[in-house]
Parts: sequence; structure tokens; C-alpha cells
Amino acid sequence: MGEFDLIARYFKRPARRAALGIGDDCALLQPAPGTQLAISCDMLVQGRHFFADVNPRSLGHKALAVNLSDLAACGAKPLAFTLALALPEVNEPWLTDFAGGLFELADAHNCELVGGDTTAGPLNICITVFGEVPLVNGRSQALLRSGARAGDDLYVSGTLGDARLALNALQGKLSVPAPILLAARQRLERPSPRVALGQALRGIASAAIDLSDGLMGDLGHILESSQIGATVQVDTLVQSIACYVDSTPAGIQGGIDLSLAQWRTLALAGGDDYELLFTASPSQRAAVAAAAQASQTPVRCVGQIDASPGLRLLDRQGQVLPNQYASFDHFA
Ligand code: ADP
Ligand code: MG
Repeated sequence: MGEFDLIARYFKRPARRAALGIGDDCALLQPAPGTQLAISCDMLVQGRHFFADVNPRSLGHKALAVNLSDLAACGAKPLAFTLALALPEVNEPWLTDFAGGLFELADAHNCELVGGDTTAGPLNICITVFGEVPLVNGRSQALLRSGARAGDDLYVSGTLGDARLALNALQGKLSVPAPILLAARQRLERPSPRVALGQALRGIASAAIDLSDGLMGDLGHILESSQIGATVQVDTLVQSIACYVDSTPAGIQGGIDLSLAQWRTLALAGGDDYELLFTASPSQRAAVAAAAQASQTPVRCVGQIDASPGLRLLDRQGQVLPNQYASFDHFA
């Protein structure tokens, strides 16, 4: 099968919202009047971001999910995406499953594949996603990293640490009971981007970021962009699906041999969570709760933004913890 047959068979579908989809030199998109385009790009490289034997359906899902997560963090509504794909060979069952996982998530978010590039080479997937953010009185409603203010509450959606727990277990570094591993692995391989929450937080959150590299580093980006500091109640963060089974710490109940310090590390520096971390003025507490409810997304307050720079970590008793948690960095 040649390059063009492959594109036609697995990726080309009739354009729906785009003015022009796959098949010409460019796609044509028409953002709604009074909106800005939000654009983001993420690459997944075999051996770096996924194992060679990963389920292709999950891979198709995750490649788009990590991009939709960036749109969510900006409060943008998904519109369209492009797919640049390097494939070592034409493996039809693999392509069927990859495209299946990709389009299932794309359709769930009404986000259309409008173009891309296909070459032979080591497996590599690069998606660029386009979203829409409204302008109100000429002002962008996009959620930025730079808007946090002293006194704001700090919130996180969902739970943190399960993706890293699954990764550690799959790498043989940790033994995890099968049902917990199944749930944690779902978080690693099929993350759910918080697209509805991001849009619901427009005009409410003062700053937002999605958690891809771990909370320590990603919160650091908000603090740097906003030029402020923060205090985090670490033990409110330690609440992963694996850690808590029927609200009993699984480290005790479920046979996972981790200390509290290791649970804290998973939550603070795990990475690959694709939850939203955001700030909002205390005057917005009811609005945040309403946004969480409307988007059916659990949200927890885990700390506060402070005027003094730096990051302070407190345990359950309010004691300061040493700041020893490093986030993921490809070149560190
Ligand atoms: P060009 O030569 O102009 O780069 P290509 O021959 O690479 O165009 O691609 C032909 C058409 O197929 C273009 O519209 C391009 O956007 C689309 N396309 C190529 N690869 C993919 C892909 N993996 N997924 C979706 N569309 C693709
Ligand atoms: Mg091309």
C-alpha cells in the first residue's frame, strides 16, 4: 500500500466543520466570528513516551488526548487537528486500531482531522491541535499561566500519581495488585483531557496549566509566569485511585509497598496525569464548584497563592516538608 492509499484508507474522512479538509495543499479552517485560534503541538516518540508494544488503540487515544489537554488548560474548545506520522512499516491491523482510538476521542470532542504528513521512519506521532477561545469586548478569554494573584486558591482536578504508579509497575520497579494496576494503567494509557472543565473555568480561573510533567514543575511554570509563590497542602494531593481503595490507603490495605514519602512523590512529581491545575480568587469559590459540577469533574483546593516567591510544601499537621521533588525534564 502506498502513502496516498494509506492516508485515504485510514485517515481521510469527509470534512464536517472545516471549510476544506484532507486532500489539498492546505486545510481551511473558519474560526467563528469573535473568537481566537488556540494552537498547540505535542509529539510522542517510541521509547520516550510509550513502549513499542503499547496497544495501538490506546496510543491513538493518548496522542490526541495530550493535545486536547493543552486546549483544556487554555479554556479552548477543540476544533481540528493535524497528524504527522512516521511509520516503520504499513501494518494494517495496527493502523486500524490506531485510527480507531484516535477518531473515537476526536469524535467525542467534535475535533476534526484536517491534514497531516506521512513518512517512513521510526514510529513518531506529532499532532497539532486547533481550538477556539471567545473574545469578550476584544479581550481574550483564554486561561493563561500568568494570571495567578496572591491570595488565590490553588485547585487540582481529579487525582494525581496513578500514571506514574502504573509506569513504575510496568517497568518492574514496584509490585501492584492486578485490579489497581488495571485502573492505574488506564490513567497512563488512556488519559481523559479535562476539556469541559477548562471551558467552564473561563472567566473564573485566574491561571491554569495542564499537568503533564508533574505538579512541582508545572506549578513552577505558573509561579514563574505570574511572579508569585505558593503553599501546597501535600497530603490533600495524595489521593490517587491506587492509593485509596474505598478511602483506605492501599499502601496498607492493598499490598502496595510504598511509604507516605513515596506516595507524596507520585502525586507531586509523577507526571502524565493530564489533570488541570488552576488558581481562582476566593470570591470565585461558588463559581469553581459550579464549573466542576457542570463539567462533572472532581476538583479540590490544595493550597494557596502567596505574595512571597517560592513554593512551600506542608504536611497534614502544617509542618514544612523539604522540597525534594523534581519534575520530568527531557534534558535534565
Ligand atoms: P504535500 O505533498 O502537500 O505535503 P501530502 O502528499 O503530504 O501533501 O499529503 C496529501 C494530503 O493528505 C494533504 O492534504 C495532507 O494534509 C494529508 N495527509 C497526509 N498525511 C496525513 C495524515 N497522517 N493524516 C491526515 N492527513 C494527512
Ligand atoms: Mg507531505
